[in-house]
Amino acid sequence: MRLLLINPALPESFWSFRWALQRVLGGKRSLNPPLGLATLAALCPSHWEVRIVDENVEPLPLRPAADLVGIGGMGVQAPRQKQLLRYYRQAGYRVVAGGSYASLCPGEYLDVADHVVAGEAEYLWPRFCADLERGAPQALYRETGNVKLEDSPPPRFDLLKLERYATATLQLSRGCPYRCEFCDIIVMFGRKPRYKAPAQIERELDSLRRLGARKVFFVDDNFIGNKAKAKETLRFLAGYQERHGRRMRFGTEASLNLADDPELLELFRAAGFEWAFLGLETPDAQTLREAAKTQNTTGDMLGAVRRIHAAGIDVLAGFIVGFDRDTPAVFAQQRRFILDSGIMVAMVGLLTALPRTPLYDRLKREGRLVEGAAHGDNTRARTNIVPKLMSVAQMTAGYKRLYAELLADGAIAERIRNKLAHFGTPARLVRERPLEAARIVWHLLARGIARGGIARSWHFLRSLPLARPRLLPLAVNDWISGLAMRDYAERHFGLSARRAAMTPERALARLRSSLQRWRRLGTVRLALRHPARAEPQIAVRITGALDRPLARRLARQLRAVLERSRTRVVLAFETLGEHRELERLTRALGRHGDRVLIVVGEGLRDLLRCEPAAPAQQN
Ligand code: SF4
Repeated sequence: MRLLLINPALPESFWSFRWALQRVLGGKRSLNPPLGLATLAALCPSHWEVRIVDENVEPLPLRPAADLVGIGGMGVQAPRQKQLLRYYRQAGYRVVAGGSYASLCPGEYLDVADHVVAGEAEYLWPRFCADLERGAPQALYRETGNVKLEDSPPPRFDLLKLERYATATLQLSRGCPYRCEFCDIIVMFGRKPRYKAPAQIERELDSLRRLGARKVFFVDDNFIGNKAKAKETLRFLAGYQERHGRRMRFGTEASLNLADDPELLELFRAAGFEWAFLGLETPDAQTLREAAKTQNTTGDMLGAVRRIHAAGIDVLAGFIVGFDRDTPAVFAQQRRFILDSGIMVAMVGLLTALPRTPLYDRLKREGRLVEGAAHGDNTRARTNIVPKLMSVAQMTAGYKRLYAELLADGAIAERIRNKLAHFGTPARLVRERPLEAARIVWHLLARGIARGGIARSWHFLRSLPLARPRLLPLAVNDWISGLAMRDYAERHFGLSARRAAMTPERALARLRSSLQRWRRLGTVRLALRHPARAEPQIAVRITGALDRPLARRLARQLRAVLERSRTRVVLAFETLGEHRELERLTRALGRHGDRVLIVVGEGLRDLLRCEPAAPAQQN
């Protein structure tokens, strides 16, 4: 059996850090590899031939040598996941859907996949494989109990192209004891945290080390969901680091009560944790209580962040606006907290109701859900809820203004200074080699700081902790993160006049004139569409062969359109023909990959049907 596992493209978001990956860190194409697919690969029968393709770091094979195609994905990937399932199914492959969104809403996949595997895979996937081999696979496999993580095999890290990612990933635990109203984690993984044994973690770290990974993100829902287990693992990790030259650099997700336990903080530092992501949500204690996030209300939130900083651990955090008590004044409150705490990676999102969460059920009862609205990514100024004390327009405008204020050069510098004023000594670890570090700093200076002119250079200089050189890497990292988030906000929220200068109509006119030769021959047809609740799209339909001159012209012109406008592009091929030119074209457009959709053959009909009716300008 030849199995191809696919991780669909992620739409670009603040989390993509695209500017940092492409312009500063060099050679990296995405943040994290698809750990779930590597785990699934390890659960396959040993005689199966398994290959993993991540669309975020490499082109998809259009006609793979495979007997089965498995496509996973989170909520943000669901639209692309369904398109790929349709495409491969129509191309004659047997397809199976999985991943976190298919686990939450398996019913949405029954029409587009031959099989759906919903829930944790450790027991289900081997059953599906066995059923398939004996010729009697079911349409739906659903995990109802909780998997023991001791039964989870070491993921097949060797099938991932780890060198293309900024960080490797590993999972120690699943589940979280809390009950935040908006959280889908506890719906999927339950409230009793389950942990792997230290010996399992050792095996996984050994494989990652052998493959050259040095930065590892523990993708746990809450690393400290069971503090006793977490401490046991941290002691083991500290010993592991000593045995292996303290070369691994760790980060994870945890709850805010990390700050209340000095022993835990010290263990985190000793184990080599450089950062922790915390769901802070809002500094308003009453709102937190209403959202059942009471664990964040036990003390002074700003003081808690500073205690974590004082332990030498950086804080990344999630914030939410749009709770029932939030008025337009909430933006100033969030801004003040984020500036004072000095959190640079502050991911602010609009409150979004995910299916099967208590929030979803409540808002449904109250008639405050927008049916059919996208709910996968809450950092794109879109939501599926009706806020209570402000209008949607006030909420999205306030949200964009908040980011514009937080990402101004002066605000980036202020945050760094506020953080470093409370920051302790970071963990002793082997970091980048001097040459590599110099290259990163040079790219930041040349491509980020210098481009902001004298004002940005001044703010950069005043943010540097010259009296504490050990903290310099932290300031450099924060500038890289801040400028990457700003680059995203400029392109997606229209904060930059230059990038949004070309209207969709002008983009279409430009393409019409530059592709005139092929339009006359009937090889290319163009259409402009304005789907509801989404950016405009230019559909480029290619009815003949994609030869080299056409591929080159398309690459040049489409790159210009994508660079200068916020238009998306749909490239639709009626037949596939020669793959090589298509692969060249997709590589050329790779930088804007999240705004380009490629559809082949029958998939074209699906694509055009799935868009809400809109006036289309055909040539
Ligand atoms: S602390 Fe985080 S993982 Fe736990 S229930 Fe709340 S939002 Fe979910």
